[in-house]
Amino acid sequence: MRDFAYHRAGSLDEARRLAALPAAALLAGGTTLIDLAKCGVAEPETVVDITRLPGLDTITVSEAGASIGALARMSRVAEHPGIKAQFPAVSEALLKGASAQLRNMATIGGNLLQRTRCAYFRDPAAFPACNKREPGSGCSAIGGVTRNHAILGTSEACIATYPGDLAAALVAFDAVVHIGERQVPIDDFFLLPGTTPDREHPLAPGEVITAVSLPASEAARRSTYLKVRDRQSYEFAAASAAVGIAFEADGRTIRDIRVALGGVATKPWRARAVEDALKGRPLEAEAVRQASRLAVEGAVAHGDNAYKIDLAPRVVARAILSLSETVGKNSGETA
Ligand code: FAD
Ligand code: SF4
Repeated sequence: MRDFAYHRAGSLDEARRLAALPAAALLAGGTTLIDLAKCGVAEPETVVDITRLPGLDTITVSEAGASIGALARMSRVAEHPGIKAQFPAVSEALLKGASAQLRNMATIGGNLLQRTRCAYFRDPAAFPACNKREPGSGCSAIGGVTRNHAILGTSEACIATYPGDLAAALVAFDAVVHIGERQVPIDDFFLLPGTTPDREHPLAPGEVITAVSLPASEAARRSTYLKVRDRQSYEFAAASAAVGIAFEADGRTIRDIRVALGGVATKPWRARAVEDALKGRPLEAEAVRQASRLAVEGAVAHGDNAYKIDLAPRVVARAILSLSETVGKNSGETA
């Protein structure tokens, strides 16, 4: 780990000014930054500690929706009664991420900006070729071990998966990222790798995420997050799905449905084709299974990760059908 200058920002303006310095990095919970500094991927010259900035850890939930401060810790957001009631998928996604200790440290802003778990990216000494780390150096993963890599949104330059759980739930429910006065819909916040996989988001040097907001919706209220992984805890998703459903008055016909995938794409992946195929139709198991296959439209496998093309639609279908079970439980109707 290289030496760096440490500053504790006393105000948002000071944080922005210091973060605009060359090779500066913001420090929130530190669970990504310190990790990457230790393995030689992050080499900040200036670390700007924002953990004491006032007012950035507020969580408010009303009938209109939620606003979550960028410094709110994962565990606090997950356990917030309003979030659990209005956005169960968000709470579940947070609780299925990392470990209890990490969730107590990690913040919502830092969570969004976590980096890929591509093993080649995280080992610069052994694998100098990585377009995400060193633009133009090549990609060590293509042709290598790719079990955890992406099948959607990839490019010839990079096939790394976006690993976060929370972001999939935020994408499903149309969250907005607040960067001071600037607001960016979350789907636009995460960039596809294309020819510039080193650019993962639209933040300019010195910009600080201040909050994430979520509009309330019936689909968000009846939502869940299903995560399939190699072991049941402390593991990233092999494939995951955030889904939410609203029904017509008959309790069977789908009025609104949201589907987003995690663990299979280079960014949190909204599966609009699945949503379009199911809207207006009764919730029936076979129709759900058929529609869920559209989640991997355009998928490209790279060797070891081909299993995700089968797995992801199953995860989507299981998640949707698990919500139909709650309809039966709550209303006495069958799906
Ligand atoms: P930091 O490390 O402080 O910051 C991360 C990045 O964001 C840095 O580049 C920093 O400069 C920048 N940043 C932070 N705050 C802001 C801001 N407000 N504005 C602009 N830039 C900012 N995540 C999952 O989703 N699922 C998992 O299963 C999972 N498992 C994990 C297992 C391990 C062992 C570890 C170490 C992490 C795991 N994670 C998992 C990732 C974890 O969720 C993130 O490390 C954490 O959320 C990052 O938050 P932080 O506050 O610690 O970020
Ligand atoms: Fe780097 Fe992306 Fe290739 Fe991984 S997949 S080695 S992050 S360029």
